[in-house]
Amino acid sequence: MKAVYIQQQGGVEELVVGELPEPEVGKGEVLVRIHAAALNHLDLYARAGENGVKVPSFPHVLGEDMAGEVASVGSGVPDIQVGQRVLVDYVIKCDSCEYCIIGYDELCRRPKNMGVDLWGGYAQYVKAPYQNIHSVPDWMSYEEAASIPLVFHTAWHCLVTRAGLRPGETVLINAAGSGVGTAGIQVARAMNARVLVTAGSDFKIDKSKELGAEAGFNYNANPAFRSFVRDLTDGDGVDVIFDSVGASLWEESYASLRRGGRFVTCGVTSGHWVDLHLGQLFAKGLNIMGSGTRSRREFKDFMNLVNLGSLRGVVYRVFPLDEAREAHRLMESRDVFGKIVLRIS
Ligand SMILES: [Zn+2]
Repeated sequence: MKAVYIQQQGGVEELVVGELPEPEVGKGEVLVRIHAAALNHLDLYARAGENGVKVPSFPHVLGEDMAGEVASVGSGVPDIQVGQRVLVDYVIKCDSCEYCIIGYDELCRRPKNMGVDLWGGYAQYVKAPYQNIHSVPDWMSYEEAASIPLVFHTAWHCLVTRAGLRPGETVLINAAGSGVGTAGIQVARAMNARVLVTAGSDFKIDKSKELGAEAGFNYNANPAFRSFVRDLTDGDGVDVIFDSVGASLWEESYASLRRGGRFVTCGVTSGHWVDLHLGQLFAKGLNIMGSGTRSRREFKDFMNLVNLGSLRGVVYRVFPLDEAREAHRLMESRDVFGKIVLRIS
């Protein structure tokens, strides 16, 4: 099969276009003919070996997010037909540890990530357990479908499960043009929350408003956004902040939380380390929480809204698979709104 793979970790020049053997499905597995694969920051980390991300062997195929059609099914696979249009949940749970057995699969002791621990989506074919296969509507393009899994799973988990977002609350979404930002805006609107955003350009703020954001602040033009937030919340601040940026926006974000506010983080693209004012934390009753890992139940929950057309993948640009290096360079530039997708013909 045609694939883009790495023979060692490093820069974009390590992405090689070539031929690899097609995966063979075993019991309980499904072979998917991939038509589109979306990029995530995790792809860059796995390619470069950054943030401690290792891959088990070479050649290695990157890519957590993928969509296509079912090419074949192994024995013991219920309810999945050849030709079915699907997307793939990239986290494979062990189904045998004590957490999986009692229904807390988000705490699985032995999860494997497709694209990191196993071959992923930068190829014509991939195999996955049937539990990771989800139908997509006929009207949805494969490019859009591929742009959905990781960012909506993350946004749903952070906003609905972790932060417990409620109708009528106000949420601030940082880096609104990122994949998780565009998903977060839509999840928050689906929960009937008010959405304010920060982003690095006026273009991204305008696009965020098209997705349902009420107002936005350009932190590259002016880094101090706490007064913007307070002006729009009667001086109170927001109920929830959904952040993937980390260090560079921390101080303004922390000052933008109302009493009892919740800050939930799923990324540290600008740095890991921040100063925390413990006095304000206890006096204002704030909650600071990390995303952690996500459950199959949450995947099913947001996919219900995807199939209703309430949550939509945001595709910024599509590259042919052969141009994976260009796609990675664009991802590194951060000059995007939504997802970069590879089309696999
Ligand atoms: Zn497990």
